[in-house]
Amino acid sequence: MSDAMTGANGDVFRDALTKLERASAHRPVDPEVLLRLEHPKAMLHVSVPVRMDDGSLRVFEGYRVRHDDTRGPAKGGIRYHPQVNLSEVKALALWMTLKCAVAGIPFGGAKGGISVDPKTLSRLELERLSRGFIGHLGNFIGPETDIPAPDVYTNAMVMGWMMDEYSRLNGRRTPAVITGKPIHLGGSLGRDDATGRGAYYVIKELEQRHHWDPFATRVAVQGFGNAGQHVAALLHQDGYKVVAVSDSQGGIYREEGFDIPSLIHTKNESRKLRAVYCEGTVCEMVPAETVTNEELLELDVDVLIPAALEGQITEKNADRVQASTVVEVANGPTTSDGDAVLADRGITVVPDILANAGGVTVSYFEWVQNRGGLSWTLEEVQNRLSEIMSRETLAILELGEELGSDLRTAAYALALGRLGAAVEAQGTKGYFNDDGD
Ligand code: GLU
Repeated sequence: MSDAMTGANGDVFRDALTKLERASAHRPVDPEVLLRLEHPKAMLHVSVPVRMDDGSLRVFEGYRVRHDDTRGPAKGGIRYHPQVNLSEVKALALWMTLKCAVAGIPFGGAKGGISVDPKTLSRLELERLSRGFIGHLGNFIGPETDIPAPDVYTNAMVMGWMMDEYSRLNGRRTPAVITGKPIHLGGSLGRDDATGRGAYYVIKELEQRHHWDPFATRVAVQGFGNAGQHVAALLHQDGYKVVAVSDSQGGIYREEGFDIPSLIHTKNESRKLRAVYCEGTVCEMVPAETVTNEELLELDVDVLIPAALEGQITEKNADRVQASTVVEVANGPTTSDGDAVLADRGITVVPDILANAGGVTVSYFEWVQNRGGLSWTLEEVQNRLSEIMSRETLAILELGEELGSDLRTAAYALALGRLGAAVEAQGTKGYFNDDGD
């Protein structure tokens, strides 16, 4: 993510606020709501010293931002990425506040991150860093205050270490402090594919509404991590032609579409994205073109799914996007300037705060199960997820029609309405100025 890619002079948080202000112009909201959202509730910046395997010491910068907890404890992932910085974490935390409001789950928003390239660390170094970070967060997090989860380049195992460390430091087993844990450490069934599956349920609603024929619908997916892999696999299963996918090293394109389970198999075995077709464990290369991550965004497809990092579609390339629908599975893949261009061109953008809300929704289920000592079946989890994703997608489609707006504006309006109700329930200027008659 270069500065040029983040809009608003590289300040991701400022750019996120621009989208918020734009949406609030469509549906008036009490100014106090916006005032609160502009100011994250609490921010922590820590330096985590880690003894490396070769005996040397390295210090990593880590952040946790609790953006808002009006609607419930703050919730959001922890990412490990070299480009993590405070402005980015603030923006990601703001999006979590809006996302939880869109999903209608009783959480506020938070986010955390460490500026590190986890691919350069050994497993032991990664464990020491993860435990060290939790040690530095102290009581900033907790099952009733702020609940972390996985995000870019963190996974269930990392969450397990973090939960264990928190429990050790507090002298009591506390599974509800973190979600996205391994199943055997209190994780929920269905959490691993929840983000991709949530996006899939949203796409199925669009399919119905616009009478798409999956077999004639070409899809490109930027990012082949957890979310990108699962949404690609589910669409492929339904007959969608996934013609392009990419990871951080670049992408592959094939007009006939790829066999997604084969790509997932090789990617997870070799860490490399390869154009292959596998019968069982025997994989053969299939003809395909290589494309860059930038080129993938401009391919002639129907549905474009950015599922990597923020700031990918900007005012510089938005006019070359050919897809008629963009489904934002990543957080913030479109800058506010890029968004304006897509809106002008009549491209439907399903915003991140709806499209990727499946992950935090199943995180909520995990938290509920941990606190209640419950263990739901996969079917139960998926049915509940499907119900929420479909309901909120329909609500946003309807609100968009009512407001005559794009879907991002409608999703923001829905979130602001719910947040506004919570803020107003505690009284705003209108209440306190009134004499009480
Ligand atoms: N990191 C995910 C997100 O951005 C999940 C957060 C969570 O489960 O709390 O939505």
